Amino acid sequence: MRAEDSEPVYVSDALIAEDIDAYLETHQHKTLLRFITCGSVDDGKSTLIGRLLYDSKMIFEDQLEALAADSKRVGTQGQDIDFALLVDGLAAEREQGITIDVAYRFFSTEKRKFIVADCPGHEQYTRNMVTGASTADLAVILVDARKGVLTQTRRHSYLAHLLGIRHIVLAVNKMDLVGYDQATFDAIVADYRAFADSIGIAAFTAIPISGFRGDNITGPSQRTPWYDGPSLIAHLEAVDLDTARDAARPFRMPVQWVNRPNLDFRGFAGLIASGRVRPGDAIRVLPSGKSSTVARIVTLDGDLEQAVAGQSVTLTFADEIDCSRGDVVARADAPPQSADQFEATLVWLDEAPLQVGRAYWLKLGTQTVSAVVREPKYAVNVNTMEHVAAKTLDLNAIGVAEVSSDRAIVFEPYADNRTLGGFILIDKMTNATVAAGMLNFSLRRAQNVHWQPTDIDREEHARLKNQKPRVLWFTGLSGAGKSTIANEVEKLLNLMNRHTFLLDGDNVRHGLNKDLGFTDADRIENIRRVGEVAKLMADAGLIVLTAFISPFRAERQLVRDMLPEGEFIEIFVDTPLGVAEQRDVKGLYRKARSGELKNFTGIDSPYEAPEAPEIAVNTVDMTAAEAAEFIVRRIMPLK
Ligand code: ADP
Repeated sequence: MRAEDSEPVYVSDALIAEDIDAYLETHQHKTLLRFITCGSVDDGKSTLIGRLLYDSKMIFEDQLEALAADSKRVGTQGQDIDFALLVDGLAAEREQGITIDVAYRFFSTEKRKFIVADCPGHEQYTRNMVTGASTADLAVILVDARKGVLTQTRRHSYLAHLLGIRHIVLAVNKMDLVGYDQATFDAIVADYRAFADSIGIAAFTAIPISGFRGDNITGPSQRTPWYDGPSLIAHLEAVDLDTARDAARPFRMPVQWVNRPNLDFRGFAGLIASGRVRPGDAIRVLPSGKSSTVARIVTLDGDLEQAVAGQSVTLTFADEIDCSRGDVVARADAPPQSADQFEATLVWLDEAPLQVGRAYWLKLGTQTVSAVVREPKYAVNVNTMEHVAAKTLDLNAIGVAEVSSDRAIVFEPYADNRTLGGFILIDKMTNATVAAGMLNFSLRRAQNVHWQPTDIDREEHARLKNQKPRVLWFTGLSGAGKSTIANEVEKLLNLMNRHTFLLDGDNVRHGLNKDLGFTDADRIENIRRVGEVAKLMADAGLIVLTAFISPFRAERQLVRDMLPEGEFIEIFVDTPLGVAEQRDVKGLYRKARSGELKNFTGIDSPYEAPEAPEIAVNTVDMTAAEAAEFIVRRIMPLK
């Protein structure tokens, strides 16, 4: 559970008992700082978090219950908790794997509310750290005073910086175990400064602490007289928030949904990503570019005179202009860019590596588009920060690559705006989130190439040919009978005076795709290009037949998505491997079996059979001519 998803229940403030309304009122107006803690396993994170919760005497009731399960000594009042017990409970939670999915904890002081994301330290938990860091204002990097800056320290700092965290605290912990020695502290700080400089962290705050003894946590410690900086809590209470910075930038609000309870009201709801807005402000809706002015700012508590970054509001406009989910409302004279090609930094989060050229869903704010990642320019070794050559990205890898989407998205560089620059990639088949990404900048060519509208459109082409365009997509193993059957189908259609064209795998590989081989990435690109060609031919009004193994579901889906609903007809030529191998018309199976031919589908390269093809033909029971007739009957009528 994310702590912010539910209303917190406070258990320790005396004010609650006396005057709940007054309490809630003061509490509501406190600012909220989100931060993450990271460090190696035994750097003392549990102790530090325990200390923060304990000293601030703010603990969730549900946390208490969980902890109380371990010991009957835990009461319902925060003050009654034994510190050692609290830490034990937090550590036990981690061991039980509760923190596998970032544990969010809530506490508060007189000045501020805090949500702390406790991110597990190992490299295999990069995903968790990315999740926690993407919304954090600050990172507390914990270092054991006896060990100094470690590989983990560097990796966490790099990730925190990469994910746009502007405030870094170097908490040199366990100072009690080094006798509160200033020289030890200074050496670690110098060491870290050199590293921070090398990766572009401009400033950080170093604090000598002992989570265990409470030194420099809530107030200055007598045991470090040589340190005159703030205590950890004092620093957390004082740093400026991202929302304050965001509020100073131009207004942007991604539209989450359109609120239309009746014909008289049409409002556009969303969370303000940056800037401020007032009734009367001139705005522009992107990507359409239509403009209007803000009429009202509506909230559940009545209309507002002004709203700023971080607030959820509903806007109404003075004019009836088109605006829907995924659009971005922006200040008219300072709109964000839109583009369809970018350079992005990706953190790969899935067991299955990046498939270069495959189409993934890209979700950026409320916009969802189909996007393809090119071969990475480089990957980053997160332990040494070196750039290394990479053909793909594996689990937990970080790399820089070009990304192109099927339509323009409204964005800002991540460094300027996390909401409009941060995105995730989703596998279209499994729906798993496979990567987190940060848009660095758009590529110039995307801004200069525009779609050329033409007067004679696809309907006109088809009308003249007196038919409905179709793409009959034959898929199956090599030797299954795709070419043979497609050829028979084309002959039948020709007899019926239909305008057709047959794209054959082997033929295309002699021309358009002769630069491609048979690796997964090349197979994906092969099918992407064939899909584009088939689409152009369908736009020209033709009935297109394609005979390609097209082994991956994702690419067949990609082509399906390119075409209007109902135009893509997937035909599975379902021939068992044994039968196709026995036919072995081209002698390829023999070569593959003897190892002469690598990456052969069905032998050492996978074939993903269609799950719901429009048509399936069985070539064991049907001859090629029978299969062709069966198919033609199924696709009628053709007008
Ligand atoms: P693909 O295009 O799928 O690689 P081909 O059409 O080139 O396959 O080869 C299929 C081979 O199988 C041809 O030699 C064809 O004559 C033979 N064959 C035998 N029975 C059938 C059938 N029922 N349907 C299609 N092909 C068949």
